[in-house]
Amino acid sequence: MLNIRDKVIAITGASSGIGEATALRLAEHGARLALGARRTERLEALAARIRDCGGDALVQPLDVTRRDQVERFIDNTVATYGRLDVLVNNAGVMPLSRMVDLKVDEWERMVDVNIKGVLYGIAAALPVMQAQHAGHIVNVSSVAGRHVFPTAAVYCASKFAVHALSEGLRQESPFMRVTVIAPGAVESELTGTISDPVMKKEVDEVFRRDLLPADAIARAIAYAIGQPDDVDVNELVVRPTAQA
Ligand code: NDP
Repeated sequence: MLNIRDKVIAITGASSGIGEATALRLAEHGARLALGARRTERLEALAARIRDCGGDALVQPLDVTRRDQVERFIDNTVATYGRLDVLVNNAGVMPLSRMVDLKVDEWERMVDVNIKGVLYGIAAALPVMQAQHAGHIVNVSSVAGRHVFPTAAVYCASKFAVHALSEGLRQESPFMRVTVIAPGAVESELTGTISDPVMKKEVDEVFRRDLLPADAIARAIAYAIGQPDDVDVNELVVRPTAQA
């Protein structure tokens, strides 16, 4: 039996893919949710589904590259539900390219969303969790945070950073739990951020043939959150069986 019922859980990037599947899975286990992303019409539709099944879901417009918006997301979650048990830092982008193509704007976007967005989430949630003497931060990294792939230098760098800062946070914060989730290839809208159409086609056709459903990652996140409070699942790597 997973220990999730009535937990207050904020999820960034809940408008599609892994974030959306995680919201649905955690709602099924009785969590009270705060859903953040830029596409609020998607969040409203998701929240309506959750409420129709008797669940609680707060919708918040959120750009994780804006520290003030991340702070407001956490503040509104605490104001609505009275506490924050879990923050799932899931929002991410993956505009893959070769370094020689010098898509510096896209490098910056990966740094801003995948690293700074996670840091802003930690900065907003940590004081709340410290005051509660309890909490859990789940950071969605990637197998690209453990191995480097061609065309993915900056994406991998951003996900290596997520692993590093998660481990540092864990070591320094014995009052709370920290989990890194490292998915392999998962069905979602993630390759939509690849701007080179030839590269996008190649990635979709060659590297992303065997895809996990997003709910496979949602179940891994629910497993980590649902353990007893004295059990911290530090890292879960979840790949399609056929992925090398
Ligand atoms: P999707 O593209 O389906 O979802 C990405 C989510 O991030 C969307 O909800 C999007 O919401 C949100 N997002 C992007 N930029 C911002 C921003 N600036 N502010 C707030 N939210 C933002 O992809 P996935 O579900 O696959 O991605 C989720 C996470 O999983 C990412 O961190 C990704 O790196 C990681 N991952 C995915 C893998 C895969 O194969 N799919 C493999 C390994 C890791 P919106 O646009 O509405 O703001």
